[in-house]
Amino acid sequence: MATETGESDVASGYSTIRETGSPNTGLAPDTRRESARYVNARTSDFRSPRMSTSPYGSRLWNQIYTSWLAPALIPGTHRGLRQRLQRLDQLQKLSLEQNWELQWQSLQRLLQHAYDTTPFYKKRFDDSGIEPSRITSPADLERIPPLTRQDIRNNLESLWSRRYRREELLAAATGGTTDSPVQLLRAPDCVDEKVAIQLHFDTWAGMWPGDKVLYLWGARSDYAQDPSWRWRFYDRYLMRRIWLATSLLNPQVLESYRVTLNRFRPRIIYAYPTPLAIFCEYLLSCGRPYFRPVSAICTAEPLMPSQRETIEKALGVPIFEKYGARDFGMIAGECEQHQGMHLNPESAYVELRPVEGAEVQGLCEILITDLLNYGMPLIRYKVNDCTVVSSERCACGRGFPLIGQIIGRTTDNFLLPNGDVVPGVSLTNRVIQVCPGIRKLQIIQEKIDSIRVRYVAGESFSADDLANLQKKLNIFFGQSVHWTFEKTEEIERERSGKTRMCISRVTARDLKQAETR
Ligand SMILES: [Zn+2]
Repeated sequence: MATETGESDVASGYSTIRETGSPNTGLAPDTRRESARYVNARTSDFRSPRMSTSPYGSRLWNQIYTSWLAPALIPGTHRGLRQRLQRLDQLQKLSLEQNWELQWQSLQRLLQHAYDTTPFYKKRFDDSGIEPSRITSPADLERIPPLTRQDIRNNLESLWSRRYRREELLAAATGGTTDSPVQLLRAPDCVDEKVAIQLHFDTWAGMWPGDKVLYLWGARSDYAQDPSWRWRFYDRYLMRRIWLATSLLNPQVLESYRVTLNRFRPRIIYAYPTPLAIFCEYLLSCGRPYFRPVSAICTAEPLMPSQRETIEKALGVPIFEKYGARDFGMIAGECEQHQGMHLNPESAYVELRPVEGAEVQGLCEILITDLLNYGMPLIRYKVNDCTVVSSERCACGRGFPLIGQIIGRTTDNFLLPNGDVVPGVSLTNRVIQVCPGIRKLQIIQEKIDSIRVRYVAGESFSADDLANLQKKLNIFFGQSVHWTFEKTEEIERERSGKTRMCISRVTARDLKQAETR
């Protein structure tokens, strides 16, 4: 922690979140088509005891899905969904202070559990002279050293809780930034709660189980290749969703997506912001009609203000940003006030550590303690994202604290010599996972036909890792670029707080020059 313990109570981000400014009563600058419904719903519902989780409220159709169909279709994660959503609804109606109190109790339970049942934390606490029962303030908590990915990589077998049997725990992985994924273990009983928390954030954007959702998401390799008719029926008619790949975007692909949008008529578009912004630019410029959903949800990478502007202009609806990590699930989401993202205090205890020498004022590194996963406690885990502290109290009245914009993994788009675009965000989790010997990766497009890959080799690194990496990259980029691979000792976060996995120095002008050559 960058601050003295005596002051850290105030200076740490944790407390900064707890500090509350004067209530902001201003309405979101929202004059779009759907905005009247928001304003009305907010003033009538969110202040009343009958506060709804959504400005739209859920309809009979959604209630059937929430109570019966979703639990029947996906019993492993959606059983008891209705009760969980109702409880989360109750939590958000508590005051911020009541939620902090509950959260602190839950944190203390987790610390004691970690100490009692995992060899790793037993040693870590003993080495630092920490007794979990004597951690009574955020300042005490800071005596526990932050957990890094390297810690997890080196100590997986001593990190899981002996309250469970090893084979009971579910394997998961950390998300891809420049780092390679690290294996995590999850207690099965936390997964349905994490799912409910994610869906609870979705309800703020007007999305409920059973709604038609168009996903602009990931790479084609993520979806079933040549799916069976059963899978297609399940996905399209029971789950009511369509997936559109973002790994390669060009006018033909975007036009086919416009046609799909018009035919499917989704209530929600759920997307990575970069590909969605590209799609919206296309919609604005193509001169053909297109269907507009009720709202759009963006996650997986920070939503840039210019992207938000483009998406809102094209779709004419509000955008809801959500923040999560594969390591934890969703932990924060935007409400209809769009004044930052609310953290769900039940899912994670979030600390913000000021970054010294940062270019951005108020920049803090995020440390997360997962309050739900007792299978492998992650305490003060460095997720490698930053945020700007927000001192505002949201006008929506929810008792969940706010954080400002996430400054984390940012990815540029790659422009290829034939004019196709490969959004960097499509590569993040897919490319590095094929080369377990590579610890970190950064892809830099120097010229339109030349890309440099910087990598940090791990202990098990071999030439196969580079061969597999090259093969995987070719799937995305074709044969049109020349690759160079460069071994490096470390890939650091930039002073702006950004972790950049994909960097492109190529502009549209370079494409024109290449074409005229
Ligand atoms: Zn709010």
